[in-house]
Amino acid sequence: MDATEFRKRGKEMIDYVADYLEKIEKRQVYPDVQPGYLRPLIPDAAPEEPEKFEDILKDVENIIMPGVTHWHSPYFFAYFPTASSFPALLADMLSGGIGCIGFSWASSPACTELETVMLDWLGKMINLPPQFLAGKDGEGGGVIQGTASEATLVALLAARTKAIHHVQSKNGKLTQGDITGRLVAYTSDQAHSSVEKDGLIAGVKVKQIPTDDNFAVCGSALRKEVDKDKAAGLIPFFFCATLGTTTCCSFDKLLELGPICNEEKIWMHIDAAYAGSAFICPEFRHLLNGVEFADSFNFNPHKWLLVNFDCSTLWVKKRADLTCAFKIDPVYLKHDHQESGLITDYRHWQIPLGRRFRSLKMWFVFRMYGVKGLQQYIRKHVKLAHEFKDLVLQDDRFEICAEVILGLVCFRIKGSNELNEALLKSINDARKIHLVPCHLRGKFVLRFAICARTVESAHIQFAWKHIVQLANELLKAKK
Ligand SMILES: *Cc1c(COP(=O)(O)O)cnc(C)c1O
Repeated sequence: MDATEFRKRGKEMIDYVADYLEKIEKRQVYPDVQPGYLRPLIPDAAPEEPEKFEDILKDVENIIMPGVTHWHSPYFFAYFPTASSFPALLADMLSGGIGCIGFSWASSPACTELETVMLDWLGKMINLPPQFLAGKDGEGGGVIQGTASEATLVALLAARTKAIHHVQSKNGKLTQGDITGRLVAYTSDQAHSSVEKDGLIAGVKVKQIPTDDNFAVCGSALRKEVDKDKAAGLIPFFFCATLGTTTCCSFDKLLELGPICNEEKIWMHIDAAYAGSAFICPEFRHLLNGVEFADSFNFNPHKWLLVNFDCSTLWVKKRADLTCAFKIDPVYLKHDHQESGLITDYRHWQIPLGRRFRSLKMWFVFRMYGVKGLQQYIRKHVKLAHEFKDLVLQDDRFEICAEVILGLVCFRIKGSNELNEALLKSINDARKIHLVPCHLRGKFVLRFAICARTVESAHIQFAWKHIVQLANELLKAKK
């Protein structure tokens, strides 16, 4: 393919994607295929001779699309949203076109500097304390990670290094191995599974703190565990708070937890993967109060801020905490510039060496929507969640299982877990809408998350009518 053909095919591809997104409602939101459906449809090995673009595009429709779950369908209410917007898609194309690998400032200065500035922009949009911003010569700053799971791992590893250095500074005889075995990290019993996985990777214990009636960790619960563990000779070093848990969008009590962490020299990381985007609205910013006590803060603009996957933004108060933990400087990567403000080598802020020019997506989206446009988008989703909640509350056979604060509604039929499992199965088998469940204190609960950029009140109304109809059939069959 030469540039002339690329021009032609590129325009066709834009048309294909625009048609796909514009008419996505007409596609069945969840596919009918069985595991292994794809292999028999394509050859066993790559072709020896080049093939035609038309043939590939035909196969996209015939082989790929039948096995796609349409996350951007307005009938998709599963998991949490994943962002999609046209400005982000275009910026990603440009990123692919430039195709640089921005591991150091020198490896592509624009890639590094735009990222630092975009993280400052976004930090200001959510009113992060200034210590988290890079500014011209700040000690903090932000970085784009691939996912929230990676961001937590980066924070956990940096905290581990810091804790080991701290203990060794008081007792030089202890080896890294002696100390690591005694380190203990904490998170909520509602935290995302990635926190536990990150603990496995980092080789440290992660304990789950029991949550209160609102599914939140409060200060006294953390205090109790920390005191118990210290008395047993363990070293508490890391706490991962969650703002907007995946199960039910609950919020840990940062204002109680933060001072305990600071006093005990426990690194406080905040995982706000989904909820973080809402903090651009002044009416939701109070949910972030207490961030001033944190060492690191992360959320996913690729969930709810219209910046396509992958874009998970992580801020730290002290960039030296990361660069101390991850800095390895072989001679082929060295250059003459000093680390400060806009000049940083992002390879020391992450696990891989290579990194894409992802900040272009943020730049395009922030400029094309403006902060006001993004705020409107968040508010619309929250309003639709409340519309759905009100529908649920009008039918007294159903109950709401957790406070609706943002765009997630947890609900169930008042009745057995089996009944609710059957309801979810009939919803997903019908293929008209798509939902996933969660467990809350042993109860099987249905999660209804407002997801698509194009979802409207009509889709919510349709979804509820459909759910009620399936519930009626189930309850009738039971009698
Ligand atoms: C979605 C989610 C994650 C995982 O996000 P990735 O970016 O896919 O790793 C982590 N924590 C919470 C609270 C989430 O909602």
